[in-house]
Amino acid sequence: MQKPQPGATIAMITQQLLDMKQQTAIDWRKMLGIGIVMPGPFGVEGLSSEGTTTLHGWEHVDIVGRLSAATGWPVTLENDATVAAICERFHGVAKRLDSFVYLYLGTGLGAGIFTDGQVYGGHAQNAGEVGHMVVRPDGRQCYCGNRGCLERYLSLQTAWEACGLDPLTALPEDLLKAPAAYFDRWVTSVLPAARQAINILECVFDPEAVIIGGLMPQPLLAKIVLRLSPCCARCAVNIALPIFDEFNPQYDVLLK
Ligand SMILES: [Zn+2]
Repeated sequence: MQKPQPGATIAMITQQLLDMKQQTAIDWRKMLGIGIVMPGPFGVEGLSSEGTTTLHGWEHVDIVGRLSAATGWPVTLENDATVAAICERFHGVAKRLDSFVYLYLGTGLGAGIFTDGQVYGGHAQNAGEVGHMVVRPDGRQCYCGNRGCLERYLSLQTAWEACGLDPLTALPEDLLKAPAAYFDRWVTSVLPAARQAINILECVFDPEAVIIGGLMPQPLLAKIVLRLSPCCARCAVNIALPIFDEFNPQYDVLLK
């Protein structure tokens, strides 16, 4: 489902669960609940996504309450960058790392943070909302009210804009079909802000590595990382491997 909306998505998940219940091979005693991943930032009063660079149509949707009511299962919500960091530690380049920052290039920009083997979530699960670090005082206007926020330079949204695509309808892979010169010019424009942000993350968290991944197509991500390096003396920049394929779509296998 591309650009999914809340009603259709909740109906599809509910139907999937009903279909799974027909599969007698599943031991339902092992089903603990449902995990949901969404872009942040989340509201402090309730875990719903906020802001125009969150999924279009999902602002202020009580996804935990609605999905729990629809399915009868407990629901846990986490932001996409943190879950990407967790997955990378299970299956990817962070397997042997205890302290790292995963810079997640989505529609906006977020970071998943591991310190001493633990996820750092913050007060309202909003730690790592690095897209709103101000890297250019008096820079581009951001929807959060500030100017010069990092994600107004480094995000899929700004890459789409720079490549002449409509952020409301464009998909990450559409960037592969855009003129390379447009994309390369965008990369050149974001390098100073990206370097500054990585330097700040390194100074604050003292990570073993900064990992760059997310929804940006892999060849384009490689272009950015290549141009970023050398970033700073102590900073190792790695590209996240595509780990999503490692999850088995046969749910009964997950519950064995
Ligand atoms: Zn902002």
